[in-house]
Parts: sequence; C-alpha cells; structure tokens
Amino acid sequence: MTGTRPVCNHDGMERLDITLVPCLRDNYAYILRCGETGAVAVVDPSVDVPVCDALDEAGLTPEAVLCTHHHGDHVGGVPGLLRRWPDLAVHGHASDRGRIRGQTVFHEDGDTFRLGTVELRVRHIPGHTRGAVAYAGAGEVFTGDTLFQAGCGRLFEGTPEMMYRSLNETLMSLPGETRVWCGHEYTVANLRYALHAEPDNAAARERLAWAEAERAAGRPTLPSTLDDERGFNPFVRAGSVEELARRRAEKDVF
Ligand SMILES: [Zn+2]
Ligand SMILES: [Zn+2]
Repeated sequence: MTGTRPVCNHDGMERLDITLVPCLRDNYAYILRCGETGAVAVVDPSVDVPVCDALDEAGLTPEAVLCTHHHGDHVGGVPGLLRRWPDLAVHGHASDRGRIRGQTVFHEDGDTFRLGTVELRVRHIPGHTRGAVAYAGAGEVFTGDTLFQAGCGRLFEGTPEMMYRSLNETLMSLPGETRVWCGHEYTVANLRYALHAEPDNAAARERLAWAEAERAAGRPTLPSTLDDERGFNPFVRAGSVEELARRRAEKDVF
C-alpha cells in the first residue's frame, strides 16, 4: 500500500516522519510525526477515510490538522477527523475564518507552533487563494496549491504580484535543500508545460523522464527541493511579475 509508510526522514536535530496519503484523484494528504516525541499532525485531509485508515494502520492519534487553504479538496476531511478526535487543533490562516469548518487556530504570517519538539513556521503565501499558507520546519515545507512541483496554482483569488512574491520571496527564502510537499500530483503535466516554456531546460527534460517512469510504476513524484524548483519550475524561474503572469495565462490553456 503505497503512501502509508514513512517515506522520509530529515537527518537534523529535529525530524519529521512524513507519510504521504493519496486522496481523491490526485490530491495528497500528509501525516507528520515528530521523530522525537511521536506527536502527530495531518496536513490537508481532502477526505477522512484514507487518512483515518493510514493513522489506524500506524496506530497514531493526531493532535492537529494543518490546512494550507480553504478549498474542499484540502479541508473536506476535517469534520470527519473532528468527529473521531473532537480535541484536534485545526490550523489555518486568520483570513480563512469562516471558510475552514472546525478551524480553531487563526494564523498570521510568521507564527510558530510546535508539533512535539519540531517548530513549524506559518508563512502567508497568497496567490492561489488569499488565505493560502505554507507550514515549514525540520527541513520540510508543505505548500498546498501555491507551489507545485514544476508549477504553481491557478490565481483564483490573488494577483500575479502576490504569487510572484509568495514564490520568489517568501518560499525561496527557505534553505535550498528544503523538501517541498505539495497538494497535488501534477508533476508530469507541469513539466510538459515547463519544457514548452523553456525547450532547452535540461533539468526539466531529465525530471520529466524520471517523473513519467515513477508514475508508470505507480509511485509519487514528491518531494522535490527548493533548489530543484529553481532549476525547472517555470514560475519560480520567471524573471518578472509580467513573465509569471504570461506563463500562468498560457498554462491555463496549455
Ligand atoms: Zn486549491
Ligand atoms: Zn487542491
């Protein structure tokens, strides 16, 4: 059963064990477990059943749900998790008050909180939605639908300026080796567009061949790193707000 085994460890002082849980058609929820204390949180439960199954299989009880934004394919499982664990803390951006059912923690940019001994920092990354946030800590970042592998989210509520800042200033201020865990398995389609935008990009070409093989074998293509994204993501590589806007519009119809 792919995705219910801890797939990675960070070898620093702090460690998060991360279990990737495929949901719906191409969504990923994540189960985070503090390597030291065993404290558990869930990121973006699209639906409750596969997440509960993965928790049960590993014998884990979550204490928190971390929502990257209010879209149903990221928070649809929150009510079901709350029915089972009524004391769960449900995190999201302050501006998503009223849009995330069950939300109990209302963050501003830069807030920190702990999962066991791991400090997680909330970064406000508007663009896809106005309340989008990333959760960063222990060398990992959960980016929802703002930064995808080799792509970025559609601009449903934000402007190209917002997305440009969220990608190139806020997220790229994290260390380059930070691993990126995004909300959807869009990697192959994103890389096909990346090669359309930059036909000579060898990093994109190489990553596409790899990603196609991984998907053919039924495996996820995540994570990448921020440095990887600098090499092949056409929205991170856009040199200006205007170029990002042009590529975003082109990708919408690609
Ligand atoms: Zn979304
Ligand atoms: Zn989504």
